[in-house]
Amino acid sequence: LNVSEFLREHIRTVADWPSAGVQFRDITPLLQNPQVFRVLIDAFVHHYMDPTLRPDVVAGLDARGFIIGAVVAYELNVGFVPIRKKGKLPFTTVQETYELEYGSATVELHTDAVTRGQRVLLIDDLIATGGTMIAGVKLLERLGAVVTECAVIVDLPELGGSARLKALGKPLLTLVDFE
Ligand code: IMP
Repeated sequence: LNVSEFLREHIRTVADWPSAGVQFRDITPLLQNPQVFRVLIDAFVHHYMDPTLRPDVVAGLDARGFIIGAVVAYELNVGFVPIRKKGKLPFTTVQETYELEYGSATVELHTDAVTRGQRVLLIDDLIATGGTMIAGVKLLERLGAVVTECAVIVDLPELGGSARLKALGKPLLTLVDFE
């Protein structure tokens, strides 16, 4: 069983969503089927259980990064911290704004979410341009944490995000590529 091919077969592509010309990669079928969900989570957990890669904490990006990240954190027996879209976190936060194709987006992290020197695994469902993931790295590192690893289910390499992350020296685990 090739895990990448197995997972790919359970990702749905929706044409022209959320706007014309976009091929949206929908990961919800991976979560719906318990056997597939287990293969997905185990792929991350087995990788990060390695003592040299095991993080102190997992951070997840709003919102599908929460679903994957929280379960991976639980299985690794480490804590989970959410990086949220602006305006959702109640306590004091650090903020990072990044450019989108049209306009900009802001993400936030509680100032006490991580401590200096903590090793963080940052998780999301998908990397496209890398703007979201890089904003998450900046937030965590502004609080003195060390982002040792980043992970996604899906990489869209043509959009350049995985290359941008590599240029920053951040290891990125991707399970499925869509050209
Ligand atoms: P980026 O910031 O351009 O890398 O876009 C990645 C962010 O947008 C992630 O938080 C994804 O959840 C979301 N995203 C962009 N395109 C897709 C897609 O085709 N499927 C699922 N999520 C997507």
